Amino acid sequence: MLYHSTRDKKLTAKASEAILRGIAPDGGLYVPEEIPKLDKSFTQLAKLDYPHLAYEVMKLFIDDFTPAELKAAVNSAYNTKNFDHEDITCLVEAGDAYYLELFHGRTIAFKDMALSILPYLMKTSAKKNGVHDEIVILTATSGDTGKAALAGFDSVEGTSIVVFYPKDGVSPVQERQMVTQAGANTHVIGIRGNFDDAQREVKRAFTDAELNKKMKQAGYVFSSANSINIGRLVPQIAYYVYAYTRLMPKEINFVVPTGNFGNILAAYYAYRMGVPIHKLICASNENKVLYDFFETGVYDRNRDFILTSSPSMDILISSNLERLVAELAGDKTGKLMKELAETGRYELPQNAKKAEALQLFEGEFATEPEMAARIKSLYEEEGYILDPHTAVASAAYEKYRARTGDETMTVIASTASPYKFTRAVLTAIDAKKYAKMKDFDLFPELEKLSGVKLPKAIKDIMTAPVKHNVVCDRDKLIEEIEKIYLK
Ligand SMILES: *Cc1c(COP(=O)(O)O)cnc(C)c1O
Repeated sequence: MLYHSTRDKKLTAKASEAILRGIAPDGGLYVPEEIPKLDKSFTQLAKLDYPHLAYEVMKLFIDDFTPAELKAAVNSAYNTKNFDHEDITCLVEAGDAYYLELFHGRTIAFKDMALSILPYLMKTSAKKNGVHDEIVILTATSGDTGKAALAGFDSVEGTSIVVFYPKDGVSPVQERQMVTQAGANTHVIGIRGNFDDAQREVKRAFTDAELNKKMKQAGYVFSSANSINIGRLVPQIAYYVYAYTRLMPKEINFVVPTGNFGNILAAYYAYRMGVPIHKLICASNENKVLYDFFETGVYDRNRDFILTSSPSMDILISSNLERLVAELAGDKTGKLMKELAETGRYELPQNAKKAEALQLFEGEFATEPEMAARIKSLYEEEGYILDPHTAVASAAYEKYRARTGDETMTVIASTASPYKFTRAVLTAIDAKKYAKMKDFDLFPELEKLSGVKLPKAIKDIMTAPVKHNVVCDRDKLIEEIEKIYLK
């Protein structure tokens, strides 16, 4: 099976090559030439635990690994050393929906589901392709990717990692998680800018021929751990298949709190593999570019960037949407992405607006007050506490259900532990009581309310020393990379 660039079908790569490169040479994203169908029945898949099921899904996409290589990667990632739930992920029924808890990994956000396996996929891919240079992972993060990638690559031989994050755009817990990261091969840099600035500059570094040449001469090669890497996308498909096989309704809806469009795209690929999905509800916060896109077929990032309590969804350029656009607009994708880069806007061609794939998606969004009200109501009704990202999805689902009357069984992707956003969560429940308390005093309060034990990830950062303190201007990322590797 081959992958090709969303912008040029002639630029192809095997799975291992696509994993190594991260992004296609023309700046496009790798997509499978054909999305494979599941080759086992749902009844068979329902009998498998998470690692075995993940293997069955991933083998169809990463077909140039031997079964032994892929199994080794799966087992190195999905075990109880890396996850604090013996099933890796689980479903919790609350209110009108099930919550698929994807936050039981080392950094208590769903990014661990993919970033715990990516380093193994990358190392194996390097070996298979005779790459002996040190792999340098460059990552822009809106908060959660950064820590999950650092934890994944920490001390993995033959790799190092540089994470850029918006200095004033992540939660205190997110920032502390990153700047306390140990591991001599890890680098963390705050930028004076937002996530889109970080992402744009990282993309620029990847395609900067001069920089790549100098790195190569020094024995380094760049790769990406961002959600544009198919090594992130493919592992995420597995949990949608898993969730479906635990419930087995005739049809199912998934609601996904969305930022870069990676998580929901994985759900779409699960649909294409054969999971009977009725609707994919794409939930945005107040940065509702995607909601507008699904309403109008126009993608327009020319608007104010709003800092919300769900920072990992504060994104105006959803990179992975390009993969859906490639299915809708085919050869015109490159032109649309050029328009996006130059004008911040593009409109789907008329025939693409009518494409069947688009009918599967429903855009919804939730404002800050709607998000907070949802945390409070679900806590009061069910005693179940959501993080702000999942609460955006839950509030969006309530709106969708009221609007459509759709009663299809629904699973909401629960993307972070409430402990990661303790202040936002507790002030949603009782602003007066918690507003004046210090961040780190809030943890025992959340423990009391939720009855969920303080995760190890939080205990660790409360005591760990700060290791990283570099901050740079938003157009100086390449200089910082050069300082690390070329000086
Ligand atoms: C990254 C993230 C999201 C958004 O996921 P995308 O794949 O970027 O759409 C949502 N919630 C949390 C907690 C995240 O970390």
